[in-house]
Amino acid sequence: MCKHVLNAQVAIRSPCCRKWYDCAECHQETSDHPLQQSFDMTFACKKCKKCFRKDAREFEDSDEYCPHCDNHFVLEARTPKASLQVEGEDVRKDSRMLKDDRVRAEEERSIFNVKDAANRLG
Ligand SMILES: [Zn+2]
Ligand SMILES: [Zn+2]
Ligand SMILES: [Zn+2]
Repeated sequence: MCKHVLNAQVAIRSPCCRKWYDCAECHQETSDHPLQQSFDMTFACKKCKKCFRKDAREFEDSDEYCPHCDNHFVLEARTPKASLQVEGEDVRKDSRMLKDDRVRAEEERSIFNVKDAANRLG
């Protein structure tokens, strides 16, 4: 459980450095490079501790559940700060310019928003 997303159900492996993070902000705090996003996403369920992969381009409603234990892992991220939904630009491009906490919260949410990732990347 990380300090940014209080209800994280899965860890996600970052495509860039192949480490496990609960959210994009954890990656940001411990890395010297921006988080790379990928269609091919690897998750580890925190409930059953098993790993599974999803393709963000083919993500359907049934894919919001862990294939091993049916844990519903796609949730609105519950963050310590109030998060405002901002219509997302590509966060990879914008992250250097972001100063506003609300925008940072949006950036942090983005890795969990797999359905949206297809739009972002496609
Ligand atoms: Zn990385
Ligand atoms: Zn975090
Ligand atoms: Zn599971």
